[in-house]
Amino acid sequence: MPVHSNKALTVLGLGDMGSALTRSWLAAGYAVTVWNRSPRRAPAGAAVAATAATAVAANTLVVVCLLDDAAVRATLDGIDLTGRDIVNLTTSTPAEARALSEWITARGGRFLDGGIMAVPSMIGVADSGAYVFYSGATELHEANAEALAVPAGVNYVGADPGFAALYDIALLSAMWGMFAGAAHAFALIGKEDISPMAFAPLMVAYQQAMAGYAYGTAAQLARGDYAEGVESNLAMMVTTNGTLLRTAAEQGVSAELLTPFMALMERRVAEGGGKESTTGVVDLLRR
Ligand code: NDP
Repeated sequence: MPVHSNKALTVLGLGDMGSALTRSWLAAGYAVTVWNRSPRRAPAGAAVAATAATAVAANTLVVVCLLDDAAVRATLDGIDLTGRDIVNLTTSTPAEARALSEWITARGGRFLDGGIMAVPSMIGVADSGAYVFYSGATELHEANAEALAVPAGVNYVGADPGFAALYDIALLSAMWGMFAGAAHAFALIGKEDISPMAFAPLMVAYQQAMAGYAYGTAAQLARGDYAEGVESNLAMMVTTNGTLLRTAAEQGVSAELLTPFMALMERRVAEGGGKESTTGVVDLLRR
């Protein structure tokens, strides 16, 4: 018989993230049944199930944290999900999450998707800033609010099961832009007698100072006017791009991380957006 308790749950997947999640629930006094495809050492105190089906049968609340959507499908295929609350913390696309929701609901389960905005070492650590976007079945979310709040903060973004993934991937995509810029900057200073350790705090401070730029972009998108209140106009920035490219050439660094964005900036200027900020690039990306 499954355990209907808000102090017991199943975790499928004992990778870096699944293990961290399991440890956080164990530390909070939850009884955790775990399953992993291949033998891995389970966190001390967890009950190891021999099969995914046994693990799912053990508890009403089942948290899934596997590599990707295909792994989730392969694992849950053929298992009785009647009456189960499936919380999928595997990174997936919005469409994958919506399709998974339909697949699970059709088999008698309830579905909540989640996007984890943290690395494993932040899980279960108070004030680490870790949180999870959730979307999907509101009733599932409300019924399990206490358990879901254990590993990280909770940010429920609506009943559409695709929204958690969309918020998650949008923020991850923004992060790649930041990482790409950092990689280029470190390459630029790399051949000189400049310590990366001394340079890093300058980069962090500057990126933090510039991060508020997103508020201006958001306000312009909301107004539909991209030229009002602009203090760094696109025509000027495109000219400055030439200096960035010449510097890369002087330092023997490939500009391949910068040029796609620069090309979009140039296109917007060519189309008459020279007095705007970079907000018009958002429109160029929409297909
Ligand atoms: P790991 O690579 O550490 O673990 C992957 C897990 O998926 C293992 O349990 C593995 O099992 C399992 N797996 C892979 N393929 C299959 C399959 N076909 N069938 C069944 N199980 C399978 O990854 P993480 O734990 O780090 O990540 C898990 C999820 O969490 C990912 O979706 C990731 O994007 C997300 N996430 C991870 C973060 C991180 O920093 N680590 C941050 C935020 C989200 P086996 O041991 O048998 O290989």
